[in-house]
Amino acid sequence: MAKIQTLRGFRDIWGEEIEKFREIERISRKHLDLLGYMEMEIPVLEKTELFVRSIGDTTDIVEKEMFTFTDLGGDSVTLRPEATAGVVRSYLQAGLFVKERVSKLFTLGPMFRHEKPQKGRFRQFRQIDVEVFGSDSALIDAELLWMISLILKDLGVAGYTIEVNSVGCPECRLDFRNKVITYFEGKKEHLCEDCVRRLYRNPLRIFDCKHAHCIEVSRQSPFLFESLCNPCRTHFDEFLASLAGFGVETTINKRLVRGLDYYTRTVFEFTSGELGAQQTFIAGGRYDNLVEEMGGPKTPGTGFAIGVERLAMVSPGGMAHKGPRFFFAYMGERAAKYVASVARAFVESGMPLRYDYHGKSLKSQMRYADSLKSDFVLILGDDEIEKGIVTLRNMGTKEQHELPLDPAALTAAATELIK
Ligand code: ATP
Ligand code: MG
Repeated sequence: MAKIQTLRGFRDIWGEEIEKFREIERISRKHLDLLGYMEMEIPVLEKTELFVRSIGDTTDIVEKEMFTFTDLGGDSVTLRPEATAGVVRSYLQAGLFVKERVSKLFTLGPMFRHEKPQKGRFRQFRQIDVEVFGSDSALIDAELLWMISLILKDLGVAGYTIEVNSVGCPECRLDFRNKVITYFEGKKEHLCEDCVRRLYRNPLRIFDCKHAHCIEVSRQSPFLFESLCNPCRTHFDEFLASLAGFGVETTINKRLVRGLDYYTRTVFEFTSGELGAQQTFIAGGRYDNLVEEMGGPKTPGTGFAIGVERLAMVSPGGMAHKGPRFFFAYMGERAAKYVASVARAFVESGMPLRYDYHGKSLKSQMRYADSLKSDFVLILGDDEIEKGIVTLRNMGTKEQHELPLDPAALTAAATELIK
């Protein structure tokens, strides 16, 4: 019978990659805890309308990337393409805005987008999503970038660039809209179908288009950055000043707009040349009107998402702290009786131990120990039992020691040895 394979764009994750995911998540949680974030979990399946209303119906995500289907009850539901919409829904549903002035939240898990699979682009991928509700201060935006740089430093990630920009507020955009439309109207023949269609409905989307022609045409276009209203400009200047205070270096990219409609003022992306076409591995920004647009009270917000697969690609790895690994090799029926008690003594005192379940020849057990990258092998055969000892072999130096056979004493001696 033919084997069943994963769906296109969906992957199994194991080995070195999952080790990196664990490290990324451990180190991220450490810094999120230090800055007072609360972890939460939200559903992967939500009402389709939640994403259409928040992300915007003329974005790539909503127009062509969502896994949307009708459930058995006849409702249109969607596998979340990103987490902000769900976190906002949850924030409103729980009435958090009445309980605390500023809410700092994070969640992590899989997101789903029906995209063309390629390097760094999958249909199921992981994000660590961080959101702050209740303050419009540029200080928070700067604090987010500083916290990300601490996480990256801990992971040993170097050689990345932080691009920042301001996409202003609905007021600056109103002014700017006409300038952009006028500019692109004369160049319609160079734009892709999507951009032509969106020109009047959502002209800013042209700046996020990945088509070479659209990028080329937009190079000479006026930038929103130059049309910012005074409060938005002041906010951006405060953001830059706070970044300097935190010691975070950034580059202004006036073209940066992000792929979702809800952003206002601050937007940013962490990019790395190592990633090829999909350069951005962390992205985010401020969304001062989203909570209100989703039916809540006027509540500014800001946040970002880490693309875990892409961050893993730029992480050196090997950061997971592992102590030396032990293997217990036993020969004969008498020695076999010691397996359970030795395992208990080791593992219950936090010492990693592996063993073969069938106690084959010493040679085959040593080979197995080697394949498990064991640092030490404990050898127990009839000779050792007669002498009341266990032979410990250092697999690196090939040195051998005699340790006591009694499991508790054996564990204590092994612990002493690796200090
Ligand atoms: P891109 O421009 O690469 O399509 P995006 O603007 O759609 O990214 P966001 O919605 O801002 O991405 O998501 C934040 C991060 O999530 C991205 O920077 C990236 O690291 C990751 N990400 C987004 N889509 C995918 C995907 N299909 N596969 C893997 N990671 C993804
Ligand atoms: Mg995308």
